Amino acid sequence: MKVFHTVSGLRDDLNKDRLKGLRIGFVPTMGNLHGGHLALIKQARETNDIVVCSIFVNALQFGLNEDWDKYPRTYQGDCDKLRDAGCDYLFHPDDIEMYPNGLDTQSRVICPTMTDVLCGASRPGHFEGVTTVVSKLFNIVQPDEAIFGIKDYQQLAVIRRMAEDLCMPIQISSAPIHREPDGLAMSSRNSYITAEERPLVIVLKDSLAWIAEEIKAGNRDFVGLEGTAKSRIIEAGFKIDYVTICNSKTLDQAADDDLEITILGAMFTESARLIDNLSISL
Ligand code: AMP
Repeated sequence: MKVFHTVSGLRDDLNKDRLKGLRIGFVPTMGNLHGGHLALIKQARETNDIVVCSIFVNALQFGLNEDWDKYPRTYQGDCDKLRDAGCDYLFHPDDIEMYPNGLDTQSRVICPTMTDVLCGASRPGHFEGVTTVVSKLFNIVQPDEAIFGIKDYQQLAVIRRMAEDLCMPIQISSAPIHREPDGLAMSSRNSYITAEERPLVIVLKDSLAWIAEEIKAGNRDFVGLEGTAKSRIIEAGFKIDYVTICNSKTLDQAADDDLEITILGAMFTESARLIDNLSISL
């Protein structure tokens, strides 16, 4: 695996690969890699000649009171995992390389669709930071395909919409949610969960799964279902951010006759904010 810290270095190699007609797959990450990230790399490996992964903890997508400074940075271990997973190029820029003109004057990409609800409602500016950095990374790597995890369902939907709206010639692919043996969605932030909380946090996934079963059984009292799920999470000792039953494509509140439904949830432990989701076709 070759490691690049500069845009120009990575571009030089990718230009040569492109001239040879090689297909380029790209997996953007913030590092502290786990099985979910590595599954994305393996998926990229199957359909591309060259697999590029980026590791960049993007300050632009963190709120002022969020965890940018304490976000786990595990560069050496990440390199070993990427090598084993078959990654060809790792792009690991620093903040100056990505934002040479500073954050405040950085041009931004705004995707007004779907960014004010769910995670966007509790993390103002988050998706603007995501779409801006992903656009920059797309321009740097110019991949044929980019792969994102369904774990971050809203992010995937926003990026699909951005790519469509801005005519980006990139296939946006998705990868299933990778879970721990008890069902907890893998996340770099799971290391913030305490030992006491750990057996209890599965309540988020279980509550979403319970809603899915109710809907499949014909229950259309979406407000009632959301309310019951929230109560279960609160009873387990956590603070609710949201539990929402949505139309899978638009992320609007689901209508009674929607056939593609996604149930999304976010909750706070003492030091982590955990998200999960579940999609059903009726
Ligand atoms: P992050 O490093 O958290 O920004 O995530 C980088 C990519 O990995 C995103 O496309 C995420 O959706 C994806 N990802 C993170 N966790 C998981 C997971 N448990 N299963 C599948 N994909 C994931």
